[in-house]
Amino acid sequence: MPVACPACGNAKSFQVKTLQMHVIHVDGTRVDVAEENRPVVFEVLCDECEAAMAIDLFDDEVRREILLMLGAR
Ligand SMILES: [Zn+2]
Repeated sequence: MPVACPACGNAKSFQVKTLQMHVIHVDGTRVDVAEENRPVVFEVLCDECEAAMAIDLFDDEVRREILLMLGAR
């Protein structure tokens, strides 16, 4: 069963927002990234009407594919 937005029925286009943490070291004018976490999905919205959706609505296979594509967990 494909996922559809509960508000407008859109089943094709979604906004996935991720959060990623970076630890940076600043030494004078030199900046290094010391540590990076993999991004975490924190919000999924319908791209048509921006209704909030849950990543859990997608079936396991599609959800895995989304996370893989985004390099997220
Ligand atoms: Zn919608």
